[in-house]
Formats: sequence, C-alpha cells, structure tokens
Amino acid sequence: EADLRQALDSNQIEIFYQPITRFSDNAVAGFEALLRWRHPTKGLIAPADFIAHSEETGLIVTLGRFALERAANDLSHWQRYFRLSPPLFVSVNLSRRQLRDPGFEELLSETVRKNALAQGTLTLEVTESAVADDSNLTAALVRLRGLGASLAMDDFGTGASSLSQFRDLPFDIVKLDKSFLRRQADGAIGEDANRVLHSIITLARDLKRTVVAEGVESAEDAAWLASLGCEFGQGFYFSPPLTPSDTLTFIARHHDVAAATSS
Ligand code: C2E
Ligand code: MG
Ligand code: MG
Repeated sequence: EADLRQALDSNQIEIFYQPITRFSDNAVAGFEALLRWRHPTKGLIAPADFIAHSEETGLIVTLGRFALERAANDLSHWQRYFRLSPPLFVSVNLSRRQLRDPGFEELLSETVRKNALAQGTLTLEVTESAVADDSNLTAALVRLRGLGASLAMDDFGTGASSLSQFRDLPFDIVKLDKSFLRRQADGAIGEDANRVLHSIITLARDLKRTVVAEGVESAEDAAWLASLGCEFGQGFYFSPPLTPSDTLTFIARHHDVAAATSS
C-alpha cells in the first residue's frame, strides 16, 4: 500500500495503450489504457499484481483517476494530430469502487470538457460483475453516458454472464472475453463454441452494440472473427500494450500521416 502510494508520487505508475483494430479496413481505431508499475528493482509490474489489493484499500480511486486523466489527455493530443474519421477512441477500465465514488461524475465531466474530446470517444470499461445486481449502478451508468462517455462491458462471457444484461444494461460496446478464442487440442475452435460466439455477436449487433473481441492472437483468429461479423479486435496478434511514445509511432505507421496532418 505504502509502496504503491509512493510509486504514484514518484511517477512509477504509467499507462500503456493496446491497439484496437477495425476488421473492415484493418486500421487502428482506438486503444485500451492499461496500468503498469515501473518498479525500480522489480521491473514492469502488471495490474494483476496490484489492482486487486488497491481495490481493497480504496487506492484504486486514486489510481483510476490518474488513468482517466492521463488517457484523456493523451487522446486529446492524438485526436488533434491525427484527424481521422471516425476519430480515435480510448477505453479506460473502471472498477466497482470507482463507480461508487461520489466524485467520479464530476471528474468525468471535467475531464471530457477540459480535453475537448470528440463525442463518445472516451469509453469506460466495466465488468459485468461490477454492475450486476445493483440497480443504483445501472442508473449511475446512464448518467455517465449522459456526460459524454461511451460504455463497454468488459470480459463478457466470464463468470455469471447473463444474456438479459444485453437488454437491461446501457452498454454501447461488448468486449468478448479471450476465453471464447480458446482452441481445442487439435488447434481448432469447436463447432459448438463457434455457434455460441456467432449467436452472441449476432445478438449484440441486432441490439446495436459494437463488438470487440479480446485476445486475438493469430491471423486465423482475426479472419474468423471478421467472418462472424465482429467489428473490432484486440490482442497480441495486432500488438501488445505499448508505451505512449510507441503508441504515437504505431498510429503514424497505420494511418496516412500526410492526410492526417494536411487538414
Ligand atoms: P482487461 O481490461 O480485460 O484488459 C485486457 C488484458 O488482456 C490486459 O492485461 C492485456 O494485456 C491482456 N491481453 C491483451 N491481448 C492479449 C492476448 O492476445 N492474449 C492474452 N492472453 N492476453 C491479452 P493487463 O494489462 O495485465 O491487465 C489486466 C487487467 O487489469 C485488465 O483486464 C483490467 O481488468 C485491469 N486493469 C488494467 N488497468 C486498469 C485500470 O486503470 N483500472 C482498473 N480498475 N483496472 C485495470
Ligand atoms: Mg478492459
Ligand atoms: Mg477485458
């Protein structure tokens, strides 16, 4: 706890960005912001090793505020430099604790305003378990959307997923958990798994939810998802999470920079 607070104060906490690719034109459409702790002796520490603990202590509220402000600021620079249509987006993870934080709505509206972000390009990712069985939180989600954020349901398909959540929760985007892409011993995705995924993608699209698949690790994964009607993919096949400066290089490499800067 003390180490983590100290890490925040001494700029050891960083945000990495993992590209999210649009299948229709293979262009980078946006990024997911992911926390990293650059520890002076232990090297780069992944969120699995400090997020759960910070949720218990409440430090996640401070960490989450940092992630939101930094990601929104980086996005505003990219949107100004790369004038793409549709504009780049950034997705920031939000824990249940942050959703319950009374100061969060003000933080969000202030962040969106200050950075003059294009409408709907700041996305908040929330897991199903963070909002399940809590009607107050559903109402809170509706208000967050009213403040200009888009909402993504993270890790859909893990834990107690329920299809009624498609109907009842105000999400714009569904992120399919990487477990959907798990292959059998022969390297193929089973026929039943194929049908389940196809049905979920079809249902999501019929309900006007955008579908992002997580854990895309191969060209086969990407081709298969695209054939099922999935719109976006994220995973090591496209890129691991990148430092902010590598992110800039990545955008420039994947878009026509001349077109982006001539306007
Ligand atoms: P997540 O939001 O589901 O993020 C996706 C995770 O999958 C990331 O792990 C990412 O590095 C990993 N990943 C990406 N592509 C692939 C792939 O092709 N294959 C596989 N096997 N994994 C892939 P990461 O960065 O370690 O983050 C883990 C979790 O920590 C995130 O899961 C998210 O729940 C949480 N987290 C990260 N940053 C924040 C934050 O700012 N706030 C909160 N509340 N949670 C965060
Ligand atoms: Mg996420
Ligand atoms: Mg996820």
